[in-house]
Amino acid sequence: MREVGHFIGGEHVAGRSGRTADIYQPMTGEVVGRVALASNAELRAAVENAAKAQPAWAATNPQRRARVMMRFLDLVARETDSLADLLAREHGKTIPDAKGDIQRGVEVVEFACGIPQLMKGEYTEGAGPGIDIYSMRQPLGVVAGITPFNFPAMIPMWKFAPAIACGNAFILKPSERDPGVPMRLAELMIEAGLPAGILNVVNGDKEAVDAILDDDIVQAVGFVGSSDIAQYVYARATASGKRAHCFGGAKNHMIIMPDADLDQAVDALMGAGYGSAGERCMAISVAVPVGEKTADALMKKLIPRVESLKVGPSTDPSADYGPLVTRAAVDRVRNYVEIGLQEGATLAVDGRGFTMQGYENGFYLGGCLFDNVTPQMRIYKEEIFGPVLSVVRAKDYAEALRLPTEHEYGNGVAIYTRDGDAARDFAAKVQVGMVGINVPIPVPLAYYTFGGWKRSGFGDLNQHGPDAVRFYTKTKTVTSRWPSGVKEGAEFSIPVMQ
Ligand code: NAD
Repeated sequence: MREVGHFIGGEHVAGRSGRTADIYQPMTGEVVGRVALASNAELRAAVENAAKAQPAWAATNPQRRARVMMRFLDLVARETDSLADLLAREHGKTIPDAKGDIQRGVEVVEFACGIPQLMKGEYTEGAGPGIDIYSMRQPLGVVAGITPFNFPAMIPMWKFAPAIACGNAFILKPSERDPGVPMRLAELMIEAGLPAGILNVVNGDKEAVDAILDDDIVQAVGFVGSSDIAQYVYARATASGKRAHCFGGAKNHMIIMPDADLDQAVDALMGAGYGSAGERCMAISVAVPVGEKTADALMKKLIPRVESLKVGPSTDPSADYGPLVTRAAVDRVRNYVEIGLQEGATLAVDGRGFTMQGYENGFYLGGCLFDNVTPQMRIYKEEIFGPVLSVVRAKDYAEALRLPTEHEYGNGVAIYTRDGDAARDFAAKVQVGMVGINVPIPVPLAYYTFGGWKRSGFGDLNQHGPDAVRFYTKTKTVTSRWPSGVKEGAEFSIPVMQ
């Protein structure tokens, strides 16, 4: 049985609260470890330690900070296989998918290597007689990130890489369901040359989160998880004067126009709907064929594909997807399938009977497909977060545009069409933060920003890209006059440049 404590001040520290949570291996259903759940006092000690280390790190020039990131990239490349194995065993996703999880985090670390350029300020020479104005970006101090179970490599890296490159010290509170990879990443950052105390992993649950939100040293909180908790974290963090951006759940639609290449659209729906067992915030969970003819043709192609999905243990590289994260997650998704049936949707493919031979206690669920879903149904309104795709038939383009626009979530959306006019109109009008045109999972690359609208995101600045640098720094603007000896007498009205 593996015991996971915390990583504070560059070393492993055992938990002292007496509270722990079980770590499962979803593919077998076994408990393989126990993670410590930090108390308020343990969190505070980590924050105080980080605060002591942070000024020297902020004073380290940005090229040197970038070099730590570069060495970290080499170490992650060296360890990709073992990180992916650990990730797949704790989370349940397949090894190729786990490698993608690591890679999409690595790309943000690569972006953070450009910190000397990214943190540059502005300068105006001669704004007035002898007057120059310049601005600089300075780190905030100690900042924190609270992350979900579903991307245990990518999202921690999205948070800590830009924050640390900007000169902050970081407290990471990863998901208690799969803490192994975040702990290993913190060790690798130390091996890469990061001073002790700059990246700390404090494991825990609500108690640790609340301690972060109320802590008077922590200056900013980045959160990713479900929407109710995102909204709670945003409200409590900002109430105590912190900067916060909090990203929540999703219900991502894919519109299939009558002129779309249907085979391409079906391939896209399979990967984006069922990959990672649907446990992605950018998973497509609603397909919207436009017109009855498109819908019938789509269902004809989709049903046999969903029926023949290959579900397997995380270590089977040929599996389309692996188990869900916990037994509770499987029960939750099964309950939604039951709700869909009660609401009158047509269950075209029922994956609930699936069992994995040799892994009977694993957290598996076969692919499910609903047809004739309507916007009033709970299975349409709520995030299911499992291998369940709902088909909502739209009579025309206007209705298809209205569905994601009026949905309370607004993370991602996609349109499949050969018509540039329709695609352009859709991208301009749809009320969703990230749009794919013939691209099913439009997660922007690291040098753009990532963020949903409406109940998918709380706060003004997005994750990664230039917004990350804005989020993790504050701007100072200096107005200076040289030579200093110009005598103008006392000025009692507001100074203006003549
Ligand atoms: P979750 O909300 O259960 O947990 C997220 C984090 O919040 C974890 O660190 C957890 O320990 C903590 N937490 C849980 N309950 C809490 C409480 N009552 N008070 C304070 N903190 C609490 O989410 P999850 O199940 O780990 O992740 C899946 C969710 O995350 C889905 O809704 C998914 O859409 C969303 N997600 C969103 C994005 C995005 O960028 N928008 C990305 C990935 C996942």
